[in-house]
Amino acid sequence: MLKLTNTLTGTPETFTPQDNSTVRMYACGPTVYNYVHIGNLRTYVFEDVLRRHLSSKWKVEHVMNITDIDDKIIQRSIETGKDIKSYTAPFTEAFFEDCAKLRIQKPEIIASATEHIDEMIELVDRLLKKGYAYREGDSIYYRISQFGDYGRLSHLDKRELKIGARIDADEYEKEQPRDFVLWKAPKDPKEPTWHAPFGEGRPGWHLECSAMAMKYLGETLDLHCGAVDLIFPHHENEIAQSEAVTGHPFVRFWVHGEHLLVDGEKMAKSKGNFYTLRDLLEKGYGPLTIRYLLVSVRYRKQLNFTFEGLKEAERALDRIKEFVFQLSTAELKAGRNDKISTATGAARDAFEAALDDDLNTSGALGALHTLIGEVNRAAPGGLQEDNRSGILDWLRIVDERLAIIPPMEHSVLQQGAAGDLQEIEELVRKYTEARRNRDFALSDKIRKELNERGVLVQDTREGTKWRRK
Ligand SMILES: [Zn+2]
Repeated sequence: MLKLTNTLTGTPETFTPQDNSTVRMYACGPTVYNYVHIGNLRTYVFEDVLRRHLSSKWKVEHVMNITDIDDKIIQRSIETGKDIKSYTAPFTEAFFEDCAKLRIQKPEIIASATEHIDEMIELVDRLLKKGYAYREGDSIYYRISQFGDYGRLSHLDKRELKIGARIDADEYEKEQPRDFVLWKAPKDPKEPTWHAPFGEGRPGWHLECSAMAMKYLGETLDLHCGAVDLIFPHHENEIAQSEAVTGHPFVRFWVHGEHLLVDGEKMAKSKGNFYTLRDLLEKGYGPLTIRYLLVSVRYRKQLNFTFEGLKEAERALDRIKEFVFQLSTAELKAGRNDKISTATGAARDAFEAALDDDLNTSGALGALHTLIGEVNRAAPGGLQEDNRSGILDWLRIVDERLAIIPPMEHSVLQQGAAGDLQEIEELVRKYTEARRNRDFALSDKIRKELNERGVLVQDTREGTKWRRK
């Protein structure tokens, strides 16, 4: 049984989709005015592991929005003299490139704000008719004093409600709740606008998620996720907009991922501790190392990102890689070692139990490393053919859920290799020959050359094995 901590109650609750077959899941996507940073990517990796784990039990219908209109986008598109589409398109593309590098699966539906203006206009119209929205100047605002449940998600003190105080900006600091803008009249004639029955303008930021979530997933979603900094005001406002028009609960489970800190501090460009995925790749870290680090801390815990942590992730991945290599290439007797079979079964159970326990990814990785330790202690004599297939089958499951098993090209010296592979095999052959002739100066030289080409060789009683690093 899967338990997830629901922000509405603050406690872990058993999760099942309302129709018992399809999880209707919504996740707030990026605002595409820049490259996303690793704090954002932590959230998308957490959501990816969540969707992968949910997919092992049910069908998943996952919707993510792309915010391609907001204050920052408008300001920067005006500064650069581009229309908002030409300004945002490269950043949207870059976002999906980053996600692909981190093995983040694509949601079933990706919805851009600017392609859903009609749905947003309709929502504002309904809010106006029901008395939850009002006009001030040429803009339309949401009247939060009208919505009795306002503050339920963030557990706001109702006394802090600022009756009648309004906010125009798409983003604002955590402070007293105010009436927020639903439809903004342009301040600058260069701003893009759309025509609506209530006047020319453009949508406020909170509106898009309510409109698109309900369009694709219905009036009550099973699951809505995002980072903790979206709880107030963004998610609170999504609830107010949606429930005011439908009269039904908007979301059954709210699941929020904690922040990422860098060296114990909040990430900020001014502090020089601000990293995008591109920055880290340029420093020579692999995308899988970064994903491993992000997965290694459970989503509800703050993650302190350090370069030492990245190096540890590199070492952990190398341990996994070496394990898979040995497991795949060892010559084994037929049959089964019961002790290892039992350990494999226990690892499988511990892995599932950890993920079911509020997505405890560090516990799930722990189950993998415990098994590696046990197999390494039993190897080489202890491992048998059935154990190998049992463990390899399970590693495929681990990879489906966490996507952290390194892909690998490896081989025991083989005939008829082609291309780059042929050159490597030729070097490995020369290396083996030099060792046979006890010409260790030459074999060391070749080993070094192979190492520089990213290839590790190992001398085993089964012959010379090699793998890519
Ligand atoms: Zn949202």
